[in-house]
Amino acid sequence: MKVFKFGGASVRDAAGIRNVATILRRFSSENLAVVVSAMGKTTNALEDLTRAYAKGKGDKDAILAKIHEDHIKEMDDLFENNRNHPVYAAVAEVFSGIQKRFDVTASANYDLVYDQIVSQGEFISSVIVSHYMNAQGIENTWYDARTIIRTDSTFREGKVDWDASQKLANQHLIPFYIGSVGRKIAITQGFLGSTSIGLTTTLGREGSDYTAAILAYLLDAKDVTIWKDVAGVMNADPRKYDKAVKFDRISFREAIELSYYGASVIHPKTIKPLQNKGIPLYVKSFLQPEEKGTIIQASEEYDHLIPSFIFKSNQVLISVLPRDFSFIVEENLREIFDVFASLGVRVHLMQNSALSFSVCIDHNEDKFPDLLKRLQENYKVKYNETVELITIRHYDQATIDMLTNAKEILVEQKSRHTARFIVRPKL
Ligand code: ADP
Ligand code: ASP
Ligand code: MG
Repeated sequence: MKVFKFGGASVRDAAGIRNVATILRRFSSENLAVVVSAMGKTTNALEDLTRAYAKGKGDKDAILAKIHEDHIKEMDDLFENNRNHPVYAAVAEVFSGIQKRFDVTASANYDLVYDQIVSQGEFISSVIVSHYMNAQGIENTWYDARTIIRTDSTFREGKVDWDASQKLANQHLIPFYIGSVGRKIAITQGFLGSTSIGLTTTLGREGSDYTAAILAYLLDAKDVTIWKDVAGVMNADPRKYDKAVKFDRISFREAIELSYYGASVIHPKTIKPLQNKGIPLYVKSFLQPEEKGTIIQASEEYDHLIPSFIFKSNQVLISVLPRDFSFIVEENLREIFDVFASLGVRVHLMQNSALSFSVCIDHNEDKFPDLLKRLQENYKVKYNETVELITIRHYDQATIDMLTNAKEILVEQKSRHTARFIVRPKL
């Protein structure tokens, strides 16, 4: 069997979902697990909704109504305004489930609330996609991913319990495919899992790629294809660099490095489960599905041919300094890291000197104020909010010059294969 994953861009609207049907008809005659993301920017809208409900920032009813209307519009297009089609009631049920939460005050655990609400985008889209495919004669069964993927209770970044998930997959999903006559298709949600007491967790933003890899691992899939709006994995984000070139093949190792540094075409956690079982990953264009795309596999033979680069904007460079001019020593580092770890803030780059410790992190408006407050309890903190982090793999001087030209370099780090720069526009 194979796993296909359709991200937010591929199911953004009715035309996108029709294209998914074309791909399912043409590109596999084998059993499939199909993972879908929330449609278009629904996850962002649900984040706004969570903020409005739990923090009183915005009009929650208006935001919820708008999300529902947007989905009804696409359903009208797909189901030819046949409002009697059961898909409308199924989707309405998801919305009334969210609405009902508003009757009670939000729990103080924001991340828990976030996961219960933000996960709903994937339920809505998977219900629509499943109904539409059945209506088109692409017979499939809808699965609730929470019955298969078990995580701990780290809300917004659920850690997969592999043994428990394997047992659940053996029990609930594997029998679906066994002894099948003709191909069988299961359609499920990306991005989410469930704790042992049945609370929904999410796997981190953009986590649907990871779901595809988790399922491939649990089901021993032959391969995974993630369908994207780009030709494959390229040496830079083509939206930010118009001369980007596509890799025909790269290794698991290189893919992990690129995604770790922020090449957002693949979620960083996607590769490990696939590498562990030697399951190849194809990244292909849903716009040109017959093209070859990129294959990610074990061989490292082709990795070094051209430099790749990754831009991470919206970064903050924070410097933490002891108040009394004492050195930064191991105890300080432990204390500082504890603050980052306990708030779930990921450090992208760090550097220390005698009197300061600097880190580069995403500018996350939910977490930044708390982070500052905690650090300021014991240290003087300086920060610069307008920086960008540039990473170059397999760097050469020409690429460094091209990318840092006209920028002020605040921090520079080089290792054998990777050069990294924190920069800001020259004043
Ligand atoms: P999905 O629809 O699955 O959510 P994403 O939008 O998360 O897809 O990922 C696809 C996007 O990743 C592309 O539109 C592209 O702008 C971006 N991207 C970033 N880095 C790269 C890269 N190195 N190669 C290809 N695409 C990249
Ligand atoms: N819908 C989720 C997000 O936008 C997960 C995903 O699309 O991968 O983060
Ligand atoms: Mg995405």
